[in-house]
Amino acid sequence: MRTPRSGTLASLAAAALSGLAGCGASTPPEAKVFLDRTAPVEARAEALLSAMTLEEKVDQMHGVRSGDGSGLSGTPVNVRLGIPPFRMVDGMRGLSAGTGVATTFPVGSARGATFDPDLERRVGEAIGAEARSRGANVLLAPTMNLLRHPRWGRAQETYGEDTFHVGAMAAAFVEGAQENVIASAKHFALYSIEDDRFTVNVQADDRTLREVYLPHFKRAVQAGVGSVMAAYNQVNGAYCAENAPLLSEILDGDWGFDGFVESDWTFGTRSTVPSATAGLDVEMPAAHYYGRPLVDAVSSGAVPVATVDEAVRRILRAKLRFGIYDGVAALDPSVEIESAAHTALAREAEEKAIVLLKNDGALPLARATTRQIAVVGSLAGTANTGDTGSSSTRSSYVVTPLQGIRAQAGGVAVVDLSRDTLSAGDLAAVAASDAAVVVVGLTAADEGEALIGAGDRKSLDLSPAHQALVAEVAAHNPRTIVVLEGSGALVVEGFVDSVSALLMAWYPGLEGGNAIAGVLFGDVNPSGKLPVSFPRSESQLPPFVNDQSPVTYGFLHGYRYLDSTGADPRFPFGFGLSYSTFSFGNLRLDRAAAASDGAVHATVDVTNLSGVPGDEVVQLYVSCPGSAVERAVRELKGFLRVSLGPGETRSVAMDLAVKDLAYWDTASRSFVVEPLSYTLGVGDSSRNLPLTASFQVPPG
Ligand code: BGC
Repeated sequence: MRTPRSGTLASLAAAALSGLAGCGASTPPEAKVFLDRTAPVEARAEALLSAMTLEEKVDQMHGVRSGDGSGLSGTPVNVRLGIPPFRMVDGMRGLSAGTGVATTFPVGSARGATFDPDLERRVGEAIGAEARSRGANVLLAPTMNLLRHPRWGRAQETYGEDTFHVGAMAAAFVEGAQENVIASAKHFALYSIEDDRFTVNVQADDRTLREVYLPHFKRAVQAGVGSVMAAYNQVNGAYCAENAPLLSEILDGDWGFDGFVESDWTFGTRSTVPSATAGLDVEMPAAHYYGRPLVDAVSSGAVPVATVDEAVRRILRAKLRFGIYDGVAALDPSVEIESAAHTALAREAEEKAIVLLKNDGALPLARATTRQIAVVGSLAGTANTGDTGSSSTRSSYVVTPLQGIRAQAGGVAVVDLSRDTLSAGDLAAVAASDAAVVVVGLTAADEGEALIGAGDRKSLDLSPAHQALVAEVAAHNPRTIVVLEGSGALVVEGFVDSVSALLMAWYPGLEGGNAIAGVLFGDVNPSGKLPVSFPRSESQLPPFVNDQSPVTYGFLHGYRYLDSTGADPRFPFGFGLSYSTFSFGNLRLDRAAAASDGAVHATVDVTNLSGVPGDEVVQLYVSCPGSAVERAVRELKGFLRVSLGPGETRSVAMDLAVKDLAYWDTASRSFVVEPLSYTLGVGDSSRNLPLTASFQVPPG
């Protein structure tokens, strides 16, 4: 957190003593403790708690509709004790549209494709800074649910389908955001269906929970996340906001989380007693089950006062630790919204997010030898930044692909065909061009949050209109380049073989058109990697059931499922081409054997064989041959983005913690590292691992 300075909220804290005096009470000695910025947080929290009435405590535990026009969601202020409210705002791709103009970053799935936690830390810090400058102190991000199936309506918000990768990216976002505000890891847990999100009961066995759907949240807790949002859905028969196994046993008990849990909004809280006793600390966005009903439940003995104390302790701890109580986290108007630094960061993120899926030599477009290009499709001229749900943003501008291409075309003529229906004249212009760039994909009409957006996707296919457009253009120009937009996996079988190049640009943020143009003209060497598998057909994936309850989440999904069935996806997890060619060699481990609490240090040499600088994402997967339990064929356990100049070779080192190879033993209810020979595979995608090495975990 930043250093203390005075601010609006600080003045409340400073007024605390006089507030106490104003109530006719003599200043209690402990008041000096909670006002003492040098005292330990725990002592200050206890002092505040002991000065509060039951009503004041319960007041801390629910939202309140402010109606102040700020667009923030808040909790009540306690003037008597100078306790400022939480002021919460959404911000997965930038500050919520309801708060006004803000930098629109590429969506979470795009940022997942960067495989660049350092970049994600900077994005988190920038969004946190903009949140703080609007007066918020809690950022309702990151969205970090595993993408179990690419038809989930909120696929764009999360980083991808892999536990290890989502954990690394989310932890980085949390660390960055919490330079300025409290981050909120959401939605805990197993939320990845939109259309029946308020009711669906998601069932998962213990291994599936512990090994697949929860470890990334644990990683956010280890990164120090201050808050966790309970999801809408049920898990194993209990709504997440009243789910004692999730909230008390795992989050607090096993992981030692000492921040606070707030409910999700509309139907996020379902009860008073079960929620309070399970560990829901804050009901949002307003008091319905908390407030008076909770005071009554304590008075009748249905909820122990110690339960309320523990919730309020967590809330006060957060307000003290993050400087909210002392005014440190107060409004920081010095941060410029949409500053040059933030918009440049949004552009950098998109440049690193674009995934080159196919290139038969059509790209990059050399300005010197390209006379004219046709830019085709309505999306070429559309600000297509994502869903209209709670993650939606409003920036003062969005550079469309057409605008970006025009701005960077130099002497290349650009024919504007930014429509989905082409006339004979348009097709003649396509044929007369040296290349055609067709922008197609998904929009907020196809996918998004339920009720306030489009909900789950109906299909993984491109719309028939977009498929026909691509076919028509490809029939008229042999150098057809397709730019896809959307949250993630699309089935491209109908047209991929007929086009020269294919790019995935996601929902690319306010600088998206510039980043896309940079890649097309070769000023930017593409380096994104798919954080979600692109199947050849939806039938290659586990079924997506969004209208029935219960649903069961299995141990395998995404690339782990495709590997288990031996299916051949169109583009595998981790895949992405470059204008450079990289080679991998000389994989070595620092030891042949490691204890279950030890680590293995892997080093590999990566060479850029081309004449242009480029980034490669080195990926490390582990297999457990001979395991006594079901395992994925391979699982991502390390990755590193590395920048290499022309002809440059670098040794890239990655540490593998042996405990990360443990499985959840249902009998002992603990993680167990099996004595085995583990195999490491290193390469540039889950399906291209040219280097292997093994190490042994000996018995005992
Ligand atoms: C969404 C959350 C969001 C909240 C507040 C809910 O409907 O599921 O992600 O943070 O609204 O806007």
